[in-house]
Amino acid sequence: MKKHNFNAGPSILPREVIESTAQAILDFKGSGLSLMEISHRSKDFQPVVEEAISLFKELLNIPDGYSVIFLGGGASLEFCMVPYNFLEHKAAYLNTGTWAKKAIKEAKGFGEVIEVASSAEANYSYIPKDYIIPADADYFHFTSNNTIYGTEIKEDLDSPIPVIADMSSDILSRPIDISKYVCIYGGAQKNLAPAGVTFVIVKDDALGKVSRYIPTMLNYKTHIDNGSMFNTPPVVPIYSAMLTLRWVKEQGGVKEMEKRAIEKADMLYSEIDRNKLFVGTAAKEDRSRMNICFVMAPEYAELEAEFLKFATARGMEGIKGHRSVGGFRASCYNALPKESVQALIECMQEFEKLH
Ligand SMILES: *Cc1c(COP(=O)(O)O)cnc(C)c1O
Repeated sequence: MKKHNFNAGPSILPREVIESTAQAILDFKGSGLSLMEISHRSKDFQPVVEEAISLFKELLNIPDGYSVIFLGGGASLEFCMVPYNFLEHKAAYLNTGTWAKKAIKEAKGFGEVIEVASSAEANYSYIPKDYIIPADADYFHFTSNNTIYGTEIKEDLDSPIPVIADMSSDILSRPIDISKYVCIYGGAQKNLAPAGVTFVIVKDDALGKVSRYIPTMLNYKTHIDNGSMFNTPPVVPIYSAMLTLRWVKEQGGVKEMEKRAIEKADMLYSEIDRNKLFVGTAAKEDRSRMNICFVMAPEYAELEAEFLKFATARGMEGIKGHRSVGGFRASCYNALPKESVQALIECMQEFEKLH
């Protein structure tokens, strides 16, 4: 039976990326050696990192004066690296969910943190809009896509101070005006690569402004100056990331990814809104295109486990909702084909006919 992979992360990657990675693990470029058993500084691997960086810059139209680096540690380590590198006195954070909260917690270890707004009182079902960003803070941080709650900030926010964003789960799903940010980061395992690599886009001249000592490995400058090769980087995930970036380019770039994301999200949200058995959990204007959360309508609440079984038996994988929201979450990342969304919709319609 065909599986439809709606996992939230790690999650679906283009099939050809997985196949080419598998091939490189067996025999890298006909060398007779595996990608896993050669030096990261070898003449065969160096161009991989360089191509990944240059494709990242090209696809996101990253202006001069910005660096792209690949690190280990996941987005969770960035929650600490960001304040380490940018927070001198005070930072402003928008609290839109679990990941934002974790970022706030780390920042508090480095200075004063102003939570400009929060939607915690409504279980993070919407994105707060009317808030004031303090002009005297060092930066404003937000999470563009709330993977767990299914809300998304789909535009580049205006701010009187430098902006930093966690884009772990919606990077490469739309064009971004990079010039509005000093730093964008994310774990790669949602839309880019297998787990193990983190991407960071950083404005070079925004660095070097804090007075504290920054440990070598936690200093963005170390990795910029060494082309992500200060120490051994996660070579296999970087190789896959490079292949995914090639794939995005071949498909037509981030504009095309956005078009597909809108199309898939519109299809699924329309069905959620039409089908009497289900309701969406996020405020309509803030609905994520990447993580689509829905629950049983109150009068059908007892059917939740049955629908999960029904859908799983028809090849739907990873649609169980996160425990913070319950119900269902269909993650529709770049690599998820429209046919998978169509298959889930058909499941929902068949299940409706039975009830
Ligand atoms: C998954 C996720 C994280 C955590 O990423 P790790 O790489 O596991 O540390 C952080 N932020 C967002 C928005 C995420 O989706």
